[in-house]
Amino acid sequence: MMPRGALEARPGYDRLQAYSPGGDPACAIDLSDNTNQWGMCPPATTALAEAAGRGVTRYPSRYGEALKDAIAARYSIDPSMVVTGAGSDGVLEPAIRAFGVPGDRMVLADPTFVMAGAFGVMNGLEPIAVPLGDDYGVDATRIVASQGRITYLCSPNNPTGGSIGRDALERVVAGAPGLVIIDEAYAEFAGHDALDLARTSDRVLVTRTFSKAYGLAGLRIGYGIGAPTIIAAVEKARGPYTVGALAECAAIAAMRDGQAWVHARVADALEARARLRDGLERLGLRPAPSDANFLFVPLSGSARVAQSLARRGIGVRAFVGLCPVSAALRQSGGEALRITVGPVEMMDALLAALGDIRSAGGGW
Ligand SMILES: *Cc1c(COP(=O)(O)O)cnc(C)c1O
Repeated sequence: MMPRGALEARPGYDRLQAYSPGGDPACAIDLSDNTNQWGMCPPATTALAEAAGRGVTRYPSRYGEALKDAIAARYSIDPSMVVTGAGSDGVLEPAIRAFGVPGDRMVLADPTFVMAGAFGVMNGLEPIAVPLGDDYGVDATRIVASQGRITYLCSPNNPTGGSIGRDALERVVAGAPGLVIIDEAYAEFAGHDALDLARTSDRVLVTRTFSKAYGLAGLRIGYGIGAPTIIAAVEKARGPYTVGALAECAAIAAMRDGQAWVHARVADALEARARLRDGLERLGLRPAPSDANFLFVPLSGSARVAQSLARRGIGVRAFVGLCPVSAALRQSGGEALRITVGPVEMMDALLAALGDIRSAGGGW
């Protein structure tokens, strides 16, 4: 091996790039990042204003203790099973750091949430990408056989949208040798979750976020649930004071008093998702099954279509070079759009713009 220069970053850092979601912030309608298009959870808005009035000259709580209590109360678990963080990213990364040492294998499905693999590389782990089975299902046998020190699963999966079947989840949890992270950033939309596995297994960490269903992405707040031994290690890696005081107050209010609002917005999202799916199919597109607040649409020329949409003031996320894990993705050459679900007017504007683009010969 070449000797490492004194100011050379860790091995693997040349493969990392600054995060670039490709959305255009100038778009009047931004359907690129799966945030809540209906707004933010109202009890959080009130709590935020009150907390701001108290000022921020003091440090926040060390580990988000009051928020841990609110989360524990909601799920009827002990607060020692909860860790908070600056977004669920702020839980995922320290979890990977706490349980993986450089050179360890981190197994994950392909395609999945790109930041997960990036967090592995940042910490010197070797990402092992296991292609999804045909039609977007997780290949539990290959994932277990890959023997990850850390196994990362995302359910519902970003960007494809489907949930991991219960049977596959259980097989991975039973067979994987190390920590199994189940990223449930979109669980509120799915109507089912793996919290029971986090409660009963000593190797499962479920991560959740306030960025999506709760509409608080700008505050950077998330949490993880797992066995107290896992949580204690993740908390050591996370360090104190990573959740701001305002974010913590808003998240507590959202958890305690925002559930009815979240349920209503989830219902809105499911209705709008059905309408969006219908409209896309009418345009001859084939969205993948989704349990989340977005649809994944295999489409060759996705980047060009996304640019045309951006010119019409609508942002979506284009993917290219994806692992061809369905007939539709093989046909599109691994290219796809991911479209966030929002209020019906937004969906109708998007569908009209896509119709224009197609009529003008600008796509498929
Ligand atoms: C959006 C998203 C997250 C998280 O985000 P935070 O804002 O850091 O909580 C995590 N995982 C997946 C799969 C996501 O799509």
